[in-house]
Amino acid sequence: MGLITINPNNGRQFADLKQTPIEELPKMLEDAKVAQKNWASKSFAQRSELLRAIALECEQNANDLGQLMHSEMGKPVEQAIGEVKAYCSGMGTSIKDMGLALKPAVDEFATGTTTVHYLPLGVAAIITPWNFPFGMPWTLLVPALLGGNAVLFKPSEICPQTALEMSKIFEKHLPKNTLQTIIGAKDHGVALVDQHVDLVAFVGSRNAGKAILKKASERATRVLLEMGGKDPMIVTPGANIEAAAKFAATASMRNTGQVCVSVERIYVHTDIAAEFVTALKANIEKISVGPENSSQADLLNLGPLSSETQMHHILKQVKAAVAAGATLEMGGNRLDRPGFWMQPTLLTGLSDQMEIMQEETFGPIACVQIVESMDEAIKFANNSRFGLGATLWADAGEESQKKALEIESGMVGLNRSFGGSEILLWAGAKESGYGHTGGISGMRSFLQPRTVTVAK
Ligand code: ADP
Repeated sequence: MGLITINPNNGRQFADLKQTPIEELPKMLEDAKVAQKNWASKSFAQRSELLRAIALECEQNANDLGQLMHSEMGKPVEQAIGEVKAYCSGMGTSIKDMGLALKPAVDEFATGTTTVHYLPLGVAAIITPWNFPFGMPWTLLVPALLGGNAVLFKPSEICPQTALEMSKIFEKHLPKNTLQTIIGAKDHGVALVDQHVDLVAFVGSRNAGKAILKKASERATRVLLEMGGKDPMIVTPGANIEAAAKFAATASMRNTGQVCVSVERIYVHTDIAAEFVTALKANIEKISVGPENSSQADLLNLGPLSSETQMHHILKQVKAAVAAGATLEMGGNRLDRPGFWMQPTLLTGLSDQMEIMQEETFGPIACVQIVESMDEAIKFANNSRFGLGATLWADAGEESQKKALEIESGMVGLNRSFGGSEILLWAGAKESGYGHTGGISGMRSFLQPRTVTVAK
């Protein structure tokens, strides 16, 4: 049976692809083990050179990759092309960080010399979601390969063609079987985790991540998991309201809200709530839906949701929130046209118990809850099983920096997003993640330390 993909822009079938026979996985693993030895025997400079060539060729093919992404998960073409280019441009930083991560540490002491080496782990299984069809695989494939590992890559069933196109470029430059791609859905992911790989690196939902963690525990296989978020944004009277409102609109709706670090919960102090909501509405009004409506003046242009399943999940959460007393200020509906298009939506009057304030939404929705104090906001923000990103909008003093540290997330921004620095660790707290990527220490998630002490 083939793997059928649907174009979310029109709801029609896009492709019917041949799936990888699951019974081939053991052979693929054996081939990967052989290829890994060869790959690891190359110098870091040789591996880096090949990865640089891959980045260059992906960038040259950004238009084709972007078009496929657009057709498979709905992202507007320009944004999809931008995604390819942005990730490719990070190759230099990845090489620099991996170079530092691979550097042995040496200590000479009275009776010996100890060297800590960082070696490849072996074969990495990489399992990725659909929201950034190029970017998510890239963030795991690049460090795994730079580190001298071979890879078995299982992309999302929503965007397999983007992955195949990407793999084609990688495979053209890499020695045979250094990267092998597995086409299929959840069953293929489950079967892959069941192989005796040395690392499972995964980005996706919390349920799938936990299932992987459980399965991997049978062999104590190393795991690296990013399992989504329910990012809070806290706005207090010291904040620049206009800047906060603009951020709230963009960070809630970017990529149609389908970002693991989307703003999913906004806690606003009662004293500034009316002013903030007015400014937020004005920003949401500048968000257009569909390429035909896009204009230079837009804050953002949104594509459709990626699937019918997502549409149902989101509409259900909105409906339940309204039934429980929330106010629908803007949007809230599916657009009457083929495909999976949803209006940008603003809900106010939310409370902490509602499902929409607890479970991941992944849609173009801004959810505002009024709080009485910064401490109450932090309490609500921390009342979550997730802990990926967060932002605090407050006066810029030291007290706010202390408060930022009280938010139980891996990445916190004060009066801005948390991203931008080369040393950012992509780390989830609580059930948002297990291990981390990014920076030099993130590169070491793909490496095995081996300490050798030589007698004097
Ligand atoms: P999303 O809907 O964000 O893609 P999923 O967690 O369902 O989130 O899927 C992410 C990736 O994990 C996909 O490639 C999917 O096929 C795969 N997957 C889903 N469930 C499992 C599982 N139990 N074990 C291994 N892989 C899985």
